[in-house]
Amino acid sequence: MTKSSLRDDLLVIYDTLRAAFGYQHWWPAETPFETMVGAILAQTVSWTNAAKAIANLKDAGMLDPGRLAAADTGDIARLIVPSRFYNQKAERIREFSRIHIDEFQADPAVMAAMETDALRKRLLAVRGLGKETVDTILLYACEKPIFVVDAYTRRIFSRYGLLPENPSYDRTQRLFADNLPRDAGLFNDYHAQIVMLGKIACRKSPLCDQCPIRMVHGSLRCGTPDPRDP
Ligand code: SF4
Repeated sequence: MTKSSLRDDLLVIYDTLRAAFGYQHWWPAETPFETMVGAILAQTVSWTNAAKAIANLKDAGMLDPGRLAAADTGDIARLIVPSRFYNQKAERIREFSRIHIDEFQADPAVMAAMETDALRKRLLAVRGLGKETVDTILLYACEKPIFVVDAYTRRIFSRYGLLPENPSYDRTQRLFADNLPRDAGLFNDYHAQIVMLGKIACRKSPLCDQCPIRMVHGSLRCGTPDPRDP
């Protein structure tokens, strides 16, 4: 497949998902700092659980870098119990808040002004922040054109035949980064559409008859047969 036809296919898949699901308006947060904390809280849990933890932090007046950096981790942990692994996440949030203050003046604009690769490298060095969390912060809080990869992305595009089975994070990210325009707005909503598709149709046991991209046009179709077809 040529680079331009791969780009066209990825764009048509996005357009088809967007037509089916509508624009997703991500990230669901009131401030960039809330997005950063939300990215940590959402590690390995559903957004519903992370959102409950965010609501608790807000209700307690704790969704603030200064308060989180100065807080006892036990106090943070008690507020974020719904996000699971709350002791670990409390330490990560406190450490991240300290760095946000010490190195970025607690100003998301200062963070966003840093060169993308250097910022990614710095955030990946923070204990407990992996590639998905860091890329979520880069894209959704700093508006950097970085494609976020999650389990849905790997599963869907592997099933579709555009990636090998069990692709790595980096291999999956390159599929989008190398073939799509580097556009933060496009990357923002493309990832959100993928999450929607993963929840609605491309589950572990896929519901292919409900999948808007099962057959986009003659040559652009999913390579995985519907398991319920005779
Ligand atoms: S057709 Fe089925 S396996 Fe393929 S992307 Fe859609 S839900 Fe997933």
